[in-house]
Amino acid sequence: MNFDLTPDQAALKERVHAFAQAEVAPRAEQLDRDAVFPTDLFHKLGDLGILSIPFPEELGGMGLGVFEAVLAIEEIARADQSLAVSAMVSMATGLTVARFGTEEQKRTWLPDIISGRRICSIAGTEPDAGSDTAGFKTRATPIGNGLWTLTGEKAFITNAGTDISSFAIILAVSSPRDVQDKKFTLFLVPNGTKGYSQGEKYRKMGWRSSDTRPLYLDDCQLPETAIVGKPQGGRWVLHKGYQAARLFLAACSLGLAQASLDHAIAYAKQRQAFGGPIGRLQLIQELIAKMALKVDSARLVTYRAAWGVDAGKDDMMALSMAKLHATETGSEVANMAIQVHGGWGFMDDCPPSRYLRDNRICTIGDGSSQIQTLLIARECGLDVTFR
Ligand SMILES: Cc1cc2nc3c(=O)[nH]c(=O)nc-3n(C[C@H](O)[C@H](O)[C@H](O)COP(=O)(O)OP(=O)(O)OC[C@H]3O[C@@H](n4cnc5c(N)ncnc54)[C@H](O)[C@@H]3O)c2cc1C
Repeated sequence: MNFDLTPDQAALKERVHAFAQAEVAPRAEQLDRDAVFPTDLFHKLGDLGILSIPFPEELGGMGLGVFEAVLAIEEIARADQSLAVSAMVSMATGLTVARFGTEEQKRTWLPDIISGRRICSIAGTEPDAGSDTAGFKTRATPIGNGLWTLTGEKAFITNAGTDISSFAIILAVSSPRDVQDKKFTLFLVPNGTKGYSQGEKYRKMGWRSSDTRPLYLDDCQLPETAIVGKPQGGRWVLHKGYQAARLFLAACSLGLAQASLDHAIAYAKQRQAFGGPIGRLQLIQELIAKMALKVDSARLVTYRAAWGVDAGKDDMMALSMAKLHATETGSEVANMAIQVHGGWGFMDDCPPSRYLRDNRICTIGDGSSQIQTLLIARECGLDVTFR
């Protein structure tokens, strides 16, 4: 077993780190205040090739693994988790199209996603159902001549309404209403399609510069060539997309946890109390040592899960452990960093206070901590029911 990054992986991580600290971190606080998606920064991620890392070379990607994508996402999130989330959702959606889409879909839509000229979304969640994907109601109906019509509503969708949003892959129930065992089909819906619209962006506790909106489908007509994967096989494809996003979200929390630790160490060395820096006080040392341990264990499970994906393992336990542990660690470590910062940690412009707000959704989205816990218990061989 070798825990070292290869020289190429270490160089990639360092390159993204240098860019993120120089160009992203200094803007993160203002972006959080303005709550506006930073198109220019996103384009820069594209120009550096960061968004192309896990895509095959024949599609314009770097042909590297999910592991290398995780390294890059971690470093972006260490500077601004909001931007990292926008990037990772677009990558996870693009990877789903690259894996399950038709040749025409890949040729038409992926070059702009891989280059970062455009951004895209994956849309499952609805106002009445999130974890319970079988409860989705958006309906796809075949209307003849190879056409389908979509009607329904999606909630909390990332990246759907920016000035560079390109398309969303949207899940809809496609079996007849009277069929008990619901079947779903996934459609690639370009922005601008008649009958497809995006609502006002939500006002959020965190991830404020990431674009999140409801989506409306009102008799939105699409050709059958818009189907991603097999007709009636869309739920499985969506879950595969969510799995990529789940791992990338673990990387987002890992980067944020590392940033919390970085800030806590720096502050502990600089802040004076009782005649010296607080970092000499053993209870502060204990806080920081525990933070370091939590960050390291989150990194181990996240890297192991990413390595497993690239090695072709279908290791659900490793994916769920990474998602559960890294996202919970993000919140714990951000909270501990606030403690190290004292009253200053409670101020809006103290980075760990933003980190705590940003990371809060990570234990809810892409399969909440409760859902990951159940999935792990099921992998342990227990008779788990979600009902
Ligand atoms: C900022 C933001 C961005 C998002 N981006 C996207 C996106 O791009 N695409 C997308 O499709 N969705 C997105 N979501 C939605 C997100 O994935 C869902 O909010 C999440 O899956 C939880 O679904 P829910 O909100 O409907 O909660 P529910 O499923 O209603 O869950 C409510 C609570 O019950 C718990 N719970 C549910 N079922 C069980 C069970 N069987 N056992 C124990 N506990 C259970 C949950 O853990 C949770 O605590 C986003 C959400 C937010 C806030």
